[in-house]
Amino acid sequence: MSDVMHPMPFDQLMDWILSEYHTRGTIFGISRMPRRDPGSARPIFNGRLETPFGPAAGPNTQLAQNLVASYVAGARFFELKTVQKMDGEELAACVNKPCILAGDEGYNCEWSTELTVADARDEYIHAWVACKLLARELGLGDPDGFVFNMSVGYDLEGIKTPKVDGFINDLKDASGTVAFNEAIAWAKANLDRFNNVDETFVDSITPHVSESITESTLHGCPPDEIERIATHLICEKGLNTYIKCNPTLLGYETARGLLDSLGFSYIVFDRHHFDEDLQWADAVPMFQRLAALCRERGLEFGVKLTNTFPVDVTRGELPSEEMYMSGRSLYTLTLTLAQRISHEFDGKLRISWSGGADALNIRGLVDAGIWPVTMATTVLKPGGYERFSQIAYAFAQQDCYRFDGVRVAAVDALVEDMHQNARYKKPIKPVPSRHIDQRLPLMDCFTAPCRHDCPIHQDIPGYLRAVEEGRFADALSIVLQRNALPFITGTICPHTCGISCMRNYYEEHVHIREFKLEAARRGLAEVLPELEAAPAVEGKKVAVIGGGPAGLSVASFLSRAGVDVTVFERQKTLGGVVANVIPDFRIAAESIANDIELCRAYGAKFELGTDVRSAQDLLEKGFTDVVVAIGAWAPGHPVIEGAQMLDALEFLQQFKADPASCMLGTDVAVVGAGNTAMDVARAAKRVPGVKNVRLVYRRDRRNMPADEEELALALEDGVEFLELLSPKALEGTTLTCDVMRLGEPDASGRRRPEPTGETREVVATSVIAAVGERVEPSVYKASGVLLDQRGLPEVDDTLQTSVAHVYAVGDCRRGPATVVKAIADAATVTEALCGYDFDFCSASNIEADYDRPLAGRATLTQEVESLVKSRCLGCATACETCCEVCPNRANVAVRVPGLRQRQVVHVDGMCNECGNCAVFCPYEGGRPFRDKLTLFWTREDFDSSHNSGFLPVGEVEGSEYLVRLNGEVATYDVDNPACGLPKAVRLTIVATRDEHPYLFER
Ligand SMILES: Cc1cc2nc3c(=O)[nH]c(=O)nc-3n(C[C@H](O)[C@H](O)[C@H](O)COP(=O)(O)OP(=O)(O)OC[C@H]3O[C@@H](n4cnc5c(N)ncnc54)[C@H](O)[C@@H]3O)c2cc1C
Ligand code: SF4
Ligand code: SF4
Ligand code: SF4
Repeated sequence: MSDVMHPMPFDQLMDWILSEYHTRGTIFGISRMPRRDPGSARPIFNGRLETPFGPAAGPNTQLAQNLVASYVAGARFFELKTVQKMDGEELAACVNKPCILAGDEGYNCEWSTELTVADARDEYIHAWVACKLLARELGLGDPDGFVFNMSVGYDLEGIKTPKVDGFINDLKDASGTVAFNEAIAWAKANLDRFNNVDETFVDSITPHVSESITESTLHGCPPDEIERIATHLICEKGLNTYIKCNPTLLGYETARGLLDSLGFSYIVFDRHHFDEDLQWADAVPMFQRLAALCRERGLEFGVKLTNTFPVDVTRGELPSEEMYMSGRSLYTLTLTLAQRISHEFDGKLRISWSGGADALNIRGLVDAGIWPVTMATTVLKPGGYERFSQIAYAFAQQDCYRFDGVRVAAVDALVEDMHQNARYKKPIKPVPSRHIDQRLPLMDCFTAPCRHDCPIHQDIPGYLRAVEEGRFADALSIVLQRNALPFITGTICPHTCGISCMRNYYEEHVHIREFKLEAARRGLAEVLPELEAAPAVEGKKVAVIGGGPAGLSVASFLSRAGVDVTVFERQKTLGGVVANVIPDFRIAAESIANDIELCRAYGAKFELGTDVRSAQDLLEKGFTDVVVAIGAWAPGHPVIEGAQMLDALEFLQQFKADPASCMLGTDVAVVGAGNTAMDVARAAKRVPGVKNVRLVYRRDRRNMPADEEELALALEDGVEFLELLSPKALEGTTLTCDVMRLGEPDASGRRRPEPTGETREVVATSVIAAVGERVEPSVYKASGVLLDQRGLPEVDDTLQTSVAHVYAVGDCRRGPATVVKAIADAATVTEALCGYDFDFCSASNIEADYDRPLAGRATLTQEVESLVKSRCLGCATACETCCEVCPNRANVAVRVPGLRQRQVVHVDGMCNECGNCAVFCPYEGGRPFRDKLTLFWTREDFDSSHNSGFLPVGEVEGSEYLVRLNGEVATYDVDNPACGLPKAVRLTIVATRDEHPYLFER
């Protein structure tokens, strides 16, 4: 069944590992396998750790392949997924799926292992033997350089049951288990498959899999029960023991205050866990007693900080009522608790870490004496287990010391950094969906989501690579193909391309806009003289009314295509709002001038100072078509009927012409919360004599329409945000506002503001209204163009208005929007008027070298501002994200002769439908575990699934396959090209059979 995973027998596991390694050079998709120097290890318990980190008890330690993948990627401390008396089907029935959401900070609603305790034991033993064999065979390190740490829960009675007690005994000494003996026997029988493993080595593999344990208890577990369990594990079982603490130990006020201060105020939880969980006053003496107990017995004792943090499901995040938080928000709670504990115990109490560690913060933790460190959220993100490789390389030169205390001052420094560091702060506004609104296809799914979310679908991976390679002229040529205004968009574009950029899952999106500007700056001198129009298009003579971004783009695109085009602009300058309204501190005149020069380069004509009253006049003068591009310059609806307020555009034009001429007084109130309001407020801050600028808005800042970047800049400039205020009267210098509160969401999805009945007065020597400009209708009316209720022209798909040969583009077509949307309109009209092909550079998005983008995966960097390395993951060339993020390795990228893209094959038997791959698949609603071609291990599994997929009818090597496609099941001879299967599907089945036979159950 698709949500039940089947452990692989040891021979299949090893066959998979060795076959994949010898044919592909990878193991469960891991290609970077750091090798450890012999002797470079930290002593722990009675063992040694070659690196001080590994996977946390969770999805990454459930199956043997998860542990093996972690090991080969460099992990050496493995906290095995928790076992408890409830297990197998009974437990799995309680875990709703999907159960993992790791898009940013992580959440899960999983529990302990979904296997039976006996199966879990066998998986851990198999992984133990497999890692030993691989350590020796591949020279990855000392076969005794890693440690398995058990995790058990949740009460003493359960831990003492024969099932859990037997599990502990078997991992302490597996010599009597079938799993261990079978694995050893397999190794001895297959020595010919190894170069460096011999019988003596196999005999030396110790059956003592684990001698340490982490005690995990449920929320609300009484302190004496926690202590009883620990005492049992220490005294009866003789185990080195860590107690997993809950972040609730911090107390409600501290946890709430900390998360709120870092922008995680939307995370909902109440006091009850804080009141019911272990209290500080009980914890401290208990830890002292248990530490003493361990000392007496020569065992190690420590606390595990921390368990995941229970919060409420309020927005349907996961199919449960409560979920467990992890990742960067947990890091902040865990570090705060670590600071408190290390001060209390003067650094003498050992802390094992689990809570939002990753490649960028682990060094600080380990250097502060906090280790071993286990991780889950970071390796559930793109890059997956290979994120361990980066960390392992970073610890290549590790100091080999035994735990000698936590360095309290170093922990204090980490806490200080945490409060300043943007990595632990949530953006002001909710993060928008990172998925593109397209359906995930069965085959050939790789796509660059940035391109999709760019209104003009620029060839972003293509020009990023050209800039990285120093080919600036090429880069600019690629940009210009679809974008007439590279300097303007390279400076002020709201860059929606960044929303779905896959790099968000690493640090932050690629700085695409800045790379575009770099291409423009460094490519201009070479490209400009080379620009040439296509041969003249006969029979077309186009007039454009308005020389703003829309009109300029139409002029550029049409003249490049060889069309005779003339722009009529009423002002003496070109550039529209960008040149006349947007303040200089946001865009320099030189950048605008460069774009105008580029637009002029193909021979378009410009008539400045010409106010056109009607499109009909131009048609009558002999123009074949007229494009209206007059922008939206009429003031918005009055905020308060009859009140004296300045209009945003009026003020900004005056400010741009001469800031000193703006007489605003000392206290400026700006009404509105869009991007224009932010520009107005920031400009007002720069007007001589102004002391305070206050932005008045009826919702809160989370719900402001302005872009995150603009909001942040306004705050940086010292603009005060007066939230939840709605202006109702203006008398003299007093703006009286209704105090609002947020009610239920309205049609836009934002919570509707409602009056509370209270009012507040705001001092305002001037009030500027920035509530959305409107389109001045006179040109449309004089031309006979039909307008809709919002005063916008009715247009068809080509943007032709109700009057033949009259088109509308830019803000005068959509209402106030953005430069890039104006360019998009210009492209649509150009295609309509002369059939120009904008797809010319699409091929540049794909790299010739398939593996190059994959080589850059899984590495986090601090260098996000670099204009040399873009950090682009090359998503159009290779995605494979679902393969990277699957903890169980249930998605495999199969090379298919004859197809450029590798094809994702989903291995049904290894998937428990945790949903993690769906979180990161760039397609909206895309669920690789349901939507990709699925390999089934058994007929029963095939029949109980709806996935399109395949199952060998007889021998795997045969050609008869049972295939389900779009719900239709039939048997096909996959070696016969005419068998009726779509080519890509047939070739993928053949390639899976021929190149990856180890994927099939034997
Ligand atoms: C304060 C502010 C900040 C903004 N910030 C950004 C930003 O950061 N990023 C972004 O992408 N967008 C931003 N925008 C929006 C962006 O400026 C507009 O979407 C863009 O300028 C629209 O281009 P357009 O050519 O349609 O209109 P406009 O820029 O308004 O150009 C219209 C042109 O037509 C001319 N015209 C009007 N009537 C006639 C006539 N009858 N005859 C001849 N000529 C005529 C006008 O003089 C003008 O030059 C901002 C807008 C404002 C107001
Ligand atoms: S990583 Fe590169 S290709 Fe992928 S979405 Fe971001 S910019 Fe585009
Ligand atoms: S294939 Fe997807 S749903 Fe299945 S186990 Fe892997 S990540 Fe989870
Ligand atoms: S995540 Fe997987 S299924 Fe989704 S686009 Fe990438 S490779 Fe295809």
